[in-house]
Amino acid sequence: MDFRFSEEQEMMRRMARDFADNEIAPYAQEWDEKDEFPEETVKKMHEVGLLTIGVPAEYGGPGLDHVAQNLVVEEISRGDAGIATTMVASTLLGPDPVLIAATDEQKKWWYGRELEGCMTAFALTEPGAGSDVAGMSTRCEKVGDEYILNGTKQFITNGGVAGLYTVFTTMDRKLGHRGMCAFMVDRDTPGISVGPKENKLGIRSSNTTQVIFEDVRVPAKNLLGKEGDGFMICMKTLDISRACIAAMATGISQAAFEASVKYSFERQQFGQPIFNFQAIQFILADMAQYIEAGRLLYLSASSRQDMGLPYTEQASLSKCFCGDTAMKVTTDAVQVYGGYGYTKEYPVEKYFRDAKIMQIFEGTNQVQRVVIANDIRRNFK
Ligand SMILES: Cc1cc2nc3c(=O)[nH]c(=O)nc-3n(C[C@H](O)[C@H](O)[C@H](O)COP(=O)(O)OP(=O)(O)OC[C@H]3O[C@@H](n4cnc5c(N)ncnc54)[C@H](O)[C@@H]3O)c2cc1C
Repeated sequence: MDFRFSEEQEMMRRMARDFADNEIAPYAQEWDEKDEFPEETVKKMHEVGLLTIGVPAEYGGPGLDHVAQNLVVEEISRGDAGIATTMVASTLLGPDPVLIAATDEQKKWWYGRELEGCMTAFALTEPGAGSDVAGMSTRCEKVGDEYILNGTKQFITNGGVAGLYTVFTTMDRKLGHRGMCAFMVDRDTPGISVGPKENKLGIRSSNTTQVIFEDVRVPAKNLLGKEGDGFMICMKTLDISRACIAAMATGISQAAFEASVKYSFERQQFGQPIFNFQAIQFILADMAQYIEAGRLLYLSASSRQDMGLPYTEQASLSKCFCGDTAMKVTTDAVQVYGGYGYTKEYPVEKYFRDAKIMQIFEGTNQVQRVVIANDIRRNFK
């Protein structure tokens, strides 16, 4: 076991940190206040390669390993979790079904579009199917050499700004998970419309919308894998992306921790910096422990992925732990700031709001515990 990062991993981490410090963090509060998707910054992210970190080398991308990708995610999220969500959805989550199941020809088309600056989105959740993905009702019906898609997808990150979607559908609800099919779908296909942007508690700089499909004709060549492969593709995608969410959550925790330490040195009460009080020191010491433990968990899941080892359990452990950690650390950060932490004058109330989604999307933390418990049952029986 080697805990050192490679030169490339370090370089990517530094590049992402510089970008977050200079181009993201100074504006994050304004985007949050205005509920604004920062188009110009997203364009800059594409120019410096941050929106294509998931493109494999053989298709013209940087070919980064998962450790490097997730280090980048943590650093960008330390600047703003909303823009990290945009980045993850566009370059990792949206394209992961393609990485998992596409043919060489399909990959050339998809990654070519991404490299040109097209954003992507992952469309799985529906109004009636959240945790229970196999209960979805978006239909796909084969007619000649096309599939006709009908249904509504809910809470789609980049729904209103993506040019490409990976879309999950069912041939027949009665077939359950065996009936699911995944497609690559061009946003410009007639019959696709987008709902209004959700007015969210946190990650407000990201774009979350419904995506509605009405008699959308998708070429049969856009099917990923075979008919019925959709559930397997979806599960493998979520395995990959859970470590990304863990990294994103760690970025929020790290930002809240740094702000808390700085404030505790500056704020004077009873004639001394509040850092001098053991009560505050212990809060900060706990933050440091949880953050480092979470970081090691997501790096363990990522490096197992890079080594070709099973990583489903580590991915769930890291997503659950880092999501809960982000909620704990940001709650404690508000406490360190006292009354000022409860105001918009300081950044910690935003971290606190941003953190909550980390326990919800990519499988809620209850669902992660179900996955972990199933592993315990298997391993100890
Ligand atoms: C801001 C945002 C961005 C999102 N981005 C995307 C995206 O890009 N693409 C996409 O497809 N989806 C996206 N989602 C959807 C997200 O993944 C779902 O909201 C999430 O999976 C939970 O589904 P649900 O909201 O329907 O909750 P439900 O499934 O209705 O769950 C409600 C509650 O019941 C609990 N629960 C449900 N089933 C079980 C069980 N078996 N055991 C124990 N507890 C259970 C849950 O933990 C939760 O507490 C996004 C959501 C949000 C809010």
